[in-house]
Amino acid sequence: MGSLDSNMAESVQFKPLDAQEFRKQAHQMVDFIADYYQNIESYPVLTQVEPGFLRSALPDSAPHRPESFETILKDVQEKIIPGITHWLSPNFFAFFPATVSTAGFLGEMLCACFNSVGFNWLASPASTELEIVVMDWLATMLKLPKTFMFSGTGGGVIQNTTSDSILVTLIAARDRALDAVGAENMHKLVVYGSDQTHSTFAKVCKLAGVSPANIRALPTSVDANFSLSPQLLRRAVEADVEAGLVPLFLCATVGTTSTTAVDNVEPLAEVANEYGIWVHVDAAYAGSACICPEFRHYLNGIERVDSFSFSPHKWLLSYLDCCCLWVKQPGLLVKALSTDPEYLKNKPSESNSVVDFKDWQVGTGRRFKSLRLWMVLRSYGVFNLQSHIRSDIRLAKMFEGFVKSDPRFEIVVPRHFALVCFRLNPYPHSGSADTEMLNRKLLDWVNSTGRVYLTHTIVGGLYMLRFAVGASLTDERHVVAAWELIMEGADRLFKGSAF
Ligand SMILES: *Cc1c(COP(=O)(O)O)cnc(C)c1O
Repeated sequence: MGSLDSNMAESVQFKPLDAQEFRKQAHQMVDFIADYYQNIESYPVLTQVEPGFLRSALPDSAPHRPESFETILKDVQEKIIPGITHWLSPNFFAFFPATVSTAGFLGEMLCACFNSVGFNWLASPASTELEIVVMDWLATMLKLPKTFMFSGTGGGVIQNTTSDSILVTLIAARDRALDAVGAENMHKLVVYGSDQTHSTFAKVCKLAGVSPANIRALPTSVDANFSLSPQLLRRAVEADVEAGLVPLFLCATVGTTSTTAVDNVEPLAEVANEYGIWVHVDAAYAGSACICPEFRHYLNGIERVDSFSFSPHKWLLSYLDCCCLWVKQPGLLVKALSTDPEYLKNKPSESNSVVDFKDWQVGTGRRFKSLRLWMVLRSYGVFNLQSHIRSDIRLAKMFEGFVKSDPRFEIVVPRHFALVCFRLNPYPHSGSADTEMLNRKLLDWVNSTGRVYLTHTIVGGLYMLRFAVGASLTDERHVVAAWELIMEGADRLFKGSAF
């Protein structure tokens, strides 16, 4: 009986957030994080653990009694970190970088601090209004037309990822189309992209109920740098109309995931506009570069599209996750996605004088993510953010120069941004299977050293290596060292020494 009483007494006194304890432990955690950033190069970039490594290292159930912060941190160091692939390592050149910054981190801390769940305006007016301000700031930086801005006739919203952005716009487009042609014609809706469109597009179409048979992944070719042809789009749309189908949605990409190919927005939108097709432009990675005047031309024609998204968590120093979506007709999003349960009713929402972002997204709850972007934009200014992009481009150009100077290697597709697609091709007349095998071996060896991490792709049947510059801690010496390592790999291959 006595022990039961003391258990109950303990649970009554439990305080999950004590300001004094918070101060002490947060200091320790900040030191831990700063040490991690400082020593990050001492870890293998690509983790070398085997599947299941962590389950066998941790107990089967949660502890019954509290454990000390020190004990937990020690486990982070000894058990968690070995299983991390270090995306923030300066030697990380895989996929696209997930860039970060001190300002972005501090904004994330503030976001966590308030834990505002800003589903509607009243739930946290500052959360909604800061998002409106920041989305218009970013729109101005990208020179988007007023039709996408709150200060004009459109608006922007922070989504989690590109998948969410495409999903909500596709659903808005779908509902608009079904209003016109009748819900019974759902099976007639057709969507368009290229064979380079991100794989999430097909997933999102599935979620939105588009028939898999009506997803047109139009072919691209190396001769056109893997860019979607407006003529091909026109032919596909005409054929579908001819067959009694209803063209619904085009997902164009500025900076594809495999090779940063650019779909030419203007002529594609021209075709789509003729047929009333909703055009979305996915610039998840390359959108960030468009804050520089010298890259803005990649968005030419953007005034003709219906929606546009890019992910600052990729190239604008903003931590995961943060995908910015602008739409010309927010009313269509709201029409498709709004809910109005009694427990969320409030005067400002009913007066239609406010934005309730829950009606622009899939979920209800949402974080105060605009704090992160606001901190980044203010702390660095447009000037430094442009310098950040240009500095990554400069390093990518340098790497491109290294590749070009070695006759054993070749650049496979032209570089637009900070991704270099290259491969070993020492015997241009030997079979492509041999070239692929050679490059696979090279990649495996380079990554097995733990000193760098890069990835590959296959486009148009061509196997190539991707060198994506831009991790926030990378400088020139890391790029030089990576190239030296790649050359060492090539030397070993040609000497036939064991890998
Ligand atoms: C990375 C990428 C995506 C996925 O983006 P997230 O916002 O990180 O989910 C979609 N499209 C393109 C073109 C990408 O490069």
